[in-house]
Amino acid sequence: MNSSNKGHMRYACEVCQRRFSRPSHMEQHMRIHTGDKPYQCAVCQQRFTLKHHLKGHQIRHLQM
Ligand SMILES: [Zn+2]
Ligand SMILES: [Zn+2]
Repeated sequence: MNSSNKGHMRYACEVCQRRFSRPSHMEQHMRIHTGDKPYQCAVCQQRFTLKHHLKGHQIRHLQM
C-alpha cells in the first residue's frame, strides 16, 4: 500500500511542467502544444483543442 499523498499529480507536461493526476488529462493538455484540434463545430466549422471549449462555443449558436 502506498499511502504517500505526493503521488497525486504525478504526470507532468514535458513542455510547460504543468502536473496532472491522470495520463488522459495530460494527453488532452498536450494538444495545446502540438496544435492538434480534433473538436470541430458542426455549425461554423471552427476547430477547438478541448471538448469543453467546443461545448462553450456551441452555446453561442443555441442562444442566437
Ligand atoms: Zn504543457
Ligand atoms: Zn460554431
